[in-house]
Amino acid sequence: MSKDSFAQSAAYLKQAVPLMIKYQIPTTPANYTLWYSYVSASMPELNHAIDQAIKLQGTCSLTTCERLFHQHLAAQDEQQIETMKLSLAAMASELGHTMQDALSDTGAFQTMLDRSFERLSQIDDEGLSLEDTMGILRDLVRESRDVRMSTMHFRSQLSNAEKEIKELREMLNETRKLANEDALTGLLNRRAFGLELDSLIRSRHPFSLILADIDRFKSFNDEYGHLLGDQVLRAFSQRMRECCRDGVTAYRLGGEEFALLLPGRNLSLSRQMAESLRRAIEKMSILDRKSGKRIDHITSSFGVSEFNSQETGDTLVERTDKLLYKAKELGRNRVMPLAL
Ligand code: GH3
Ligand code: MG
Ligand code: MG
Repeated sequence: MSKDSFAQSAAYLKQAVPLMIKYQIPTTPANYTLWYSYVSASMPELNHAIDQAIKLQGTCSLTTCERLFHQHLAAQDEQQIETMKLSLAAMASELGHTMQDALSDTGAFQTMLDRSFERLSQIDDEGLSLEDTMGILRDLVRESRDVRMSTMHFRSQLSNAEKEIKELREMLNETRKLANEDALTGLLNRRAFGLELDSLIRSRHPFSLILADIDRFKSFNDEYGHLLGDQVLRAFSQRMRECCRDGVTAYRLGGEEFALLLPGRNLSLSRQMAESLRRAIEKMSILDRKSGKRIDHITSSFGVSEFNSQETGDTLVERTDKLLYKAKELGRNRVMPLAL
């Protein structure tokens, strides 16, 4: 690690911290790394995603931070890990001694060693007094101890930081999956939905909600079996995932029920998205390997609402659920409310 890159790390970190405070981002190592990467502008896509989130939500919510970290940083290659190490190392050094201190100490120590040996060699040549000799030795011992302490301190900070990043990556991969992801489809789960919904409401920015439910899924399961049912759920999720642009996030709430949260989108735009999703699902065709038959009659129903700032998350979900129920009542395979 060169001195320059280290100084650069510290400089980036100094820019990242005020941003994190401004947007009330918890100061976890993952978030440090995320915001460090943001100010370093090394990943345009990540910057774009954060800018979008801020534009739409007024901040970068917890789940968004987590998702972006996972997408852009946690699964990155060696070079990326290097950047993260560097950022954590910078953090460590900000808290204690800087690398530069350690380096200049080492330089000073070297000079001092040279000087001392030169003087010690004079013992023979010039017959230095015992007191002089002891003085030189005392200096040598004291300075070497100081330098050793400061480099050791730095090294241990660095290795702590590296350990931390490694543990962080493992932990993140584990807990993220358990906590926020649905195991069958890989979509975010109901817990993540609740978190993101709360965060959107707190941001006071407009957003909409789409609830989706597969039609007559029970009879589909009964007819083709649970395994094929699972395959349908995965295919459905893939269509949902394709909607995830510009801050839109997809969730499996449970069973065959799904949701999309659409920051910055009004009812009309969200309705259009639900409508094209409905058509994409209708066109889906899945091969049943067992029977060799193609299954191409999967449909789903949708309820769409725009959040109104007077209501709570629960009433929004309730309202949207009623629209979904209405869509079922009217014969399924449709979006409610009807075209505006
Ligand atoms: P509707 O059109 O009114 O929504 O009818 P439906 O049959 O889809 O609704 P219902 O809620 O009665 O049935 C949902 C079914 O979803 C029940 C269950 O068999 C199935 N299901 C729930 N979770 C899973 C799952 O993880 N895998 C599979 N294969 N099926 C599931
Ligand atoms: Mg259902
Ligand atoms: Mg259903």
